Amino acid sequence: MGLRIHFVVDPHGWCCMGLIVFVWLYNIVLIPKIVLFPHYEEGHIPGILIIIFYGIAIFCLVALVRASFTDPGRLPENPKIPHGEREFWELCNKCNLMRPKRSHHCSRCGHCVRRMDHHCPWINNCVGEDNHWLFLQLCFYTELLTSYALMFSFCHYYYFLPVKKRNLDLFVVRHELAIMRLAAFMGITMLVGITGLFYTQLIGIITYHWKRVLQPKKSLGLESAPQIFA
Ligand SMILES: [Zn+2]
Ligand SMILES: [Zn+2]
Repeated sequence: MGLRIHFVVDPHGWCCMGLIVFVWLYNIVLIPKIVLFPHYEEGHIPGILIIIFYGIAIFCLVALVRASFTDPGRLPENPKIPHGEREFWELCNKCNLMRPKRSHHCSRCGHCVRRMDHHCPWINNCVGEDNHWLFLQLCFYTELLTSYALMFSFCHYYYFLPVKKRNLDLFVVRHELAIMRLAAFMGITMLVGITGLFYTQLIGIITYHWKRVLQPKKSLGLESAPQIFA
């Protein structure tokens, strides 16, 4: 697996990725300020829960950066085609380069990608052979962080004891309900979207591996790729 740095010049992709970073920042700053720290200071929750929250958030950001800036499997201009595999290669009529049959040309990235799954605007990168695992990690950590934040938001209103000592002059305290409603909206949207995506990804992987087990002779590239679009 090659982990070369890859950068896609696409303003639309930058906007989408910027939105994801904004959602991450919004939750990482405001949830601890409104929910975690006040409850910790009043002894309602142990400090380890705050450390876990930041830990998952960092894993999530690292997974985003790695999935975005890792080469998804760009083909070189003069690929060395292994002897005996020539029949599994073809010419791309867009970039005029040879590629294995399960590769696809991405018009946003402007080149062919080995085992391309889809182009994801949210990471501003293609999801292909070399970053598919990183993309799945990102989905997993995002699910975890979103569920964790939503659980605390729920407990804040319906389970924990009310916070007694609050500085009512603080902006976040005065606008707490609006901030938490927006956080819940973002969290539920992310959770529903990524659960759907995660599900189709897992079904695609399981189906592909079953095909390989049942048809081992075709595993070099005769069958079509499981196309999973976000
Ligand atoms: Zn191409
Ligand atoms: Zn692409």
